[in-house]
Amino acid sequence: MTAVFPLEPSRDQVATLMAAATEFATDFLGSLNDAPPRGGGPAAPAAPPGEHPGDLDRLLRTFGAAAAAATDTAGPRCFAYFPGGGLFSSAVAEMLARTVNRYTGAGSMAAELVALEHSVVRWLCDEFGLPTTASGVLTTGASTGTLSALVAARHELLGERAGTLYVTEHTHHCVAKAARIAGFAADRVRVVPSDSAHRMDVRAAEEMIAEDRAAGRRPFLLVGTAGTTSTGAIDPLPELAAVAAREGLWFHVDAAYGGGFQLTGRGRAKLAGVELADSLTLDTHKSLFQPQTTGVLLVRDPRALRAAHVADADYLQDLHLDESLPNYADLGAELSRDYRGLRLWLPLHLHGVGAFRDALDEKLDLSAVIRRELAEMRGLEICASDLTVHVFRVAGGDAVNRRLLERINESGRVALTSTKVDGRTALRMCVLNHRTHAEHVDEALKLIADSI
Ligand SMILES: *Cc1c(COP(=O)(O)O)cnc(C)c1O
Repeated sequence: MTAVFPLEPSRDQVATLMAAATEFATDFLGSLNDAPPRGGGPAAPAAPPGEHPGDLDRLLRTFGAAAAAATDTAGPRCFAYFPGGGLFSSAVAEMLARTVNRYTGAGSMAAELVALEHSVVRWLCDEFGLPTTASGVLTTGASTGTLSALVAARHELLGERAGTLYVTEHTHHCVAKAARIAGFAADRVRVVPSDSAHRMDVRAAEEMIAEDRAAGRRPFLLVGTAGTTSTGAIDPLPELAAVAAREGLWFHVDAAYGGGFQLTGRGRAKLAGVELADSLTLDTHKSLFQPQTTGVLLVRDPRALRAAHVADADYLQDLHLDESLPNYADLGAELSRDYRGLRLWLPLHLHGVGAFRDALDEKLDLSAVIRRELAEMRGLEICASDLTVHVFRVAGGDAVNRRLLERINESGRVALTSTKVDGRTALRMCVLNHRTHAEHVDEALKLIADSI
């Protein structure tokens, strides 16, 4: 007989729901190591909800089958895009945050909860060497964080006027998208040439800024990337910060992917200069193993972020009495918001920061192995390799490399993707999931060698 769950379940019914969820999660996590990483095929049409109660087990089976049919971005064999494992402790935190369902957009509504979230934001500011006055907001990811950074920079430096911003062809498209959403004409996004290592050419940036000024445009924002999506390249951050300071531009660092490595000695050395950012985006759902839509925007001067976003309404007049904690609703586009803080706060305290540092160091060690072994494979050329992104190709045209990618992925054991470097198709392998270990990397490398 179908168990019925009313909108207000009893204690026993809560326990039954939780037990079913626990069993589901345990089975799912247990299957990850061997699950084929690539999903495929079109979706079957899903039924609309019925008037009467459904069966929990059947519903969970439907969900489980749908999840299994998707590309397995949570498993250890996924080297595609930026594999985001999703810490289970964050999923638990999420469930609990949803259960208490507090409003955390204003410090005065949930002071202690906001203080927990703020402690994580402030800890990240310290890790990145930002001043003690720096702050920020947890976001859905770098796209929304970048939009907020861009409008803060505009509010601070342009007011209502138009201005130009500076990226490279390797800058994530979320910057151009943010500019478009914010109302900038496409030609206001200026693409600075890159050097042979796919990093912004600093001299070229200076020249372009000078030309724009001479032509009566208003340069206001320079974007450096700490780990590009395509090749992992890190722009020359200290030099770009110096240009921005000299020219009076806002310096935004997109550390969406690379930022987590700041916890490691090697990463921190590579990201030197990040502490000079006026704003910084980090996708904790990439390099801090969080489930998707857990990102952070940090800003040197939170007043600039607030000035660009603050809005008020008569019915909110009771909210803004306590100024000692941030009103997150004033720092971004959201009024109602997720209590994302718990997703970071619980795992960081539960596992300890050292566990994250060790896992990231392991990814850097695995990357050193990948770099070494790829370099030794006959007929294979490494096009780019930094942090934990590796881009390589074999001799022949794009079609040859595309077929190589298909052969590797057809194994059903690993998933890689492709990108373009200097206009040519190349294979891309990224190791970032906390569940990916030496055995998975070894198998992937063997598959690559056997498929050439
Ligand atoms: C993933 C990524 C983004 C976009 O982040 P979302 O969280 O998907 O919005 C921006 N910049 C870089 C460098 C990225 O890798």
